[in-house]
Amino acid sequence: PSLEYEQLRRKIQTQTRELSYFALDQMNKIAEKVPDPFRANWQKVIDRFADQYRVLLAAIRNLTDVDGYQSWREQEHESLSNLMQARLNALQNPSKPCSDVKRLSCNINKGCGYGCEIHHAMHCFHVAYALGRPLILFSDGWRYNPRGGFDEIFHPLSKNCTHADVVGAEAWARYKSADVVEIPLIDNIHPKENFMPMTVPADLAQRLIRLHGNPFVWFTGQLMKYLLRPQPWLTEMLAKKLESTKFETPIVGIHVRRTDKVGSEAAFHDISEYMKFVEDYYTTYQYQNPELTFKKRVYIATDEPKVFSEARSKYPAYVFYGDTAVAQSAQLNSRYGTESLKGVLLDIHFLSLSDYLVCTFSSQICRVAYEVMQQRVIDGAWRVQPLDDVYYFGGQNAHNQRAVISNTADWPNEFSFQRGDIIGTEGNHWDGFSKGTDKTSGQSGLYPSYKVEEIVATAEMYTYPEVKV
Ligand code: GDP
Repeated sequence: PSLEYEQLRRKIQTQTRELSYFALDQMNKIAEKVPDPFRANWQKVIDRFADQYRVLLAAIRNLTDVDGYQSWREQEHESLSNLMQARLNALQNPSKPCSDVKRLSCNINKGCGYGCEIHHAMHCFHVAYALGRPLILFSDGWRYNPRGGFDEIFHPLSKNCTHADVVGAEAWARYKSADVVEIPLIDNIHPKENFMPMTVPADLAQRLIRLHGNPFVWFTGQLMKYLLRPQPWLTEMLAKKLESTKFETPIVGIHVRRTDKVGSEAAFHDISEYMKFVEDYYTTYQYQNPELTFKKRVYIATDEPKVFSEARSKYPAYVFYGDTAVAQSAQLNSRYGTESLKGVLLDIHFLSLSDYLVCTFSSQICRVAYEVMQQRVIDGAWRVQPLDDVYYFGGQNAHNQRAVISNTADWPNEFSFQRGDIIGTEGNHWDGFSKGTDKTSGQSGLYPSYKVEEIVATAEMYTYPEVKV
């Protein structure tokens, strides 16, 4: 398929979703003001609109089954993945003694949650990839496995670069020349370079943009695939649990993040907010597959055990998967240590195996699950409905969009802009509007999400000429 075809296909889906966010939000707001004798009728209008929207979305989602390009997509996904893994393998296992190559060190112990610490390690690995310097990871006393550290859970990152190769590590500011450099937390890294998240390597950019609706998520998913190669005991644990839960598709994964997150870094979201989108997914899925009979399955990952009973009592038409004991081990008072680690690994694994995710991107668990999911699904950027933030990488460089249609401000807090303006986005409100700043005019506020397109950030990185795949 041409690049233009793939982009157009995705654009049609994105625009359709944006249209429904806007129209349904406005129609529901009007519903609150419609006087009684007409309210029921207005509700019928809303329901009919929502239903026609799902029929349209189903048709768009079925396009990839019939356009004749799906086997190309599958092959391209595999071929790029093989290339990435070969490059990472070459990066991490240099042919010269490790002490003869320029290298990087990174300490996983950021002192935060699993998702947060993995993303910290990922930021280090991204920098390592970009510079072509092997990464040596330290995890002594890791709060999720204090005795054995990272290497007991996942394969060590290298066969020939070890902790012994990190002596006299220098500060980041000297990364261009020093033999060994320690990578600081992304929040403290100065100078921030253009090759940092959310960029993808320039030499793969065209292929990635054609392959995937969110190239960075795919790329970072591939870094993660290498970084988190499970030790045999973990592979076995995940396989056993998969078997004993009788995990089957279709299944939607929801991640309900509560406890310490609520009120500090995220708002409370009632189970009904998740289930509204789950229902939406399944109705659309049925329209995609009119002959199919299936159970509506939902995998729940949460740090609040009460969510299970609430979901089961309020939504009897669904089959809920998930483990109350795992949720208990995720609560703040029992969060760290190996038991909790096993729980979070299971939850991320099952979420990533789902067909679709409904979750809050403010949570790093939800983002990790979405990133891991991209290792498996083909062009799966659309397979999520976030309840709060748009996808991001903590500490990222600017996330920019380009205005493709000019706008004259006509709504509360909206700003005007010209086609071609660069808009730094801060979030999508999932009601037709996004929030951000026009970098061309300096204005900020709300803007209609359908008038912009994503800019995929690319940067020159090491190109791995030694790897032939
Ligand atoms: P964030 O705080 O949600 O952005 O994610 P972090 O991973 O940084 O920290 C949250 C931590 O809480 C996780 O690492 C887990 O230890 C625990 N946790 C949160 N939600 C879940 C969940 O759904 N399942 C499990 N097993 N643990 C969770």
